[in-house]
Amino acid sequence: HWSRICERLKAEVGEVEYRTWLRQITVGPVEEDEITLYLPTRFLRDWVRGQYGDRLGTLWNAEVPAIRRVELQVARPGSASAPVQADGAAAAAPANSEDAAPRVAAAPAPAQEEPRHAEVRSDLAAPLDPRFTFDTFVVGKPNEFAYACARRVAERPSSPGFNPLFLYGGVGLGKTHLMHAIGAELLREGKVSVAYMSAEKFMYRFIAAIRSQSTMEFKEQLRSVDVLMIDDLQFLIGKDNTQEEFFHTFNALVDAGRQIVVSADKSPSDLSGLEDRLRTRLGCGMVADIHATTFELRISILEAKASASGVVVPAKVLEFLAHKITSNVRELEGALNRLIAHANLFGRPVTLEATQDVLHDILKAHDRRVTIEEIQRKVAEHWNIRLTDMSSARRARAVARPRQVAMYLAKQLTSRSLPEIGRKFGNRDHTTVMHAVTRVTELMEQDPAFAEDVELLRRMLES
Ligand code: ADP
Ligand code: MG
Repeated sequence: HWSRICERLKAEVGEVEYRTWLRQITVGPVEEDEITLYLPTRFLRDWVRGQYGDRLGTLWNAEVPAIRRVELQVARPGSASAPVQADGAAAAAPANSEDAAPRVAAAPAPAQEEPRHAEVRSDLAAPLDPRFTFDTFVVGKPNEFAYACARRVAERPSSPGFNPLFLYGGVGLGKTHLMHAIGAELLREGKVSVAYMSAEKFMYRFIAAIRSQSTMEFKEQLRSVDVLMIDDLQFLIGKDNTQEEFFHTFNALVDAGRQIVVSADKSPSDLSGLEDRLRTRLGCGMVADIHATTFELRISILEAKASASGVVVPAKVLEFLAHKITSNVRELEGALNRLIAHANLFGRPVTLEATQDVLHDILKAHDRRVTIEEIQRKVAEHWNIRLTDMSSARRARAVARPRQVAMYLAKQLTSRSLPEIGRKFGNRDHTTVMHAVTRVTELMEQDPAFAEDVELLRRMLES
């Protein structure tokens, strides 16, 4: 059991995290519904408990349903409670009866006797990550709409207009987090049965069902859930049979008044490679875009995660990280985790200097020359206009002003000539670029709020 759990953990958290923290675990005895795991030091024990405690509980429970709790202890070498081999623990666990009922794949709850009505269909779905809840999701401009839609679906699944809910956005911006949060909320409320799985897993389950000639069962299982969530739908591009199957499942569920939640890296209309009729149906409910993070959101996320860790991280360090690591929340989180681990391991305060030192490899990877395309993208994002308007002929102030700022920043931050810059902005003349530079300079002098915006953009692009 333990080696299977280890494989899962390694796949989930990555080789480095796994080796740093989890490989140090040894398995101890099982008593009633509780298994003891040992770690060599108190620090490691606390860290693993904080970061992976719930997950370990969930995974053990999924492997050995009789185990409902995981106790983490510091091993005392040579003492009576010396760790035993993983296999010993498995043998000590009460035999797993042939439970026909679907298992509840929730984090092991403190002894709770009432029957649960809600269930995660772990017989066909992946368990939910207990860290991904609405409470731990930091809301800001770029994700507030998606967040509101997710909350709404969790409150009242299958409401007209919200079915299907289609969440889309780039890597590491919180799609999976929101889907798990919906699942966790529904489970907590005890209302319905929920199945969550990646599109990849959907495909494997489907193929396995074909092989074992049990497609009927597979279909029935899927069609019996109240809420079906499929993550990373873009994976089905080019997998025609699986798409077909998903399309039928989708229709059957929606027609039966069940809720579907889907995520992908692009909007339904941009998911070329998906069948038209599927794309059409996916776009029929609520489509919510999670935009790239803003500086403000990154700061809020870092603040939340730093304060949850209990380590004091100075505002300067948080700002530095938020400037440097703009790609996605996962990377931001990874960097902060490393800082926190370092502070704990060496008992040193987190300073800007230490940060640059500890994260130098990550920071180097983010040190790139800024390109005009990047400038256009950042500026368009900042003022919420379409990227294509950077080169369009539209002259409305709402798009013309951001376009001028982008030209100004291109002049300031790159070594491109005025004609070269003009060409990148829909073949405009170099005099247009010159005019933009003068105009933005003037405006910055007159309007401090505007100047602050431009400065912020500059800092974001430079870092
Ligand atoms: P995606 O599925 O869009 O690739 P994830 O949901 O896996 O992204 O998010 C990546 C990581 O970043 C997760 O650990 C998640 O908890 C965290 N994360 C993303 N957005 C937020 C947010 N708004 N608040 C808190 N954590 C977030
Ligand atoms: Mg994801």
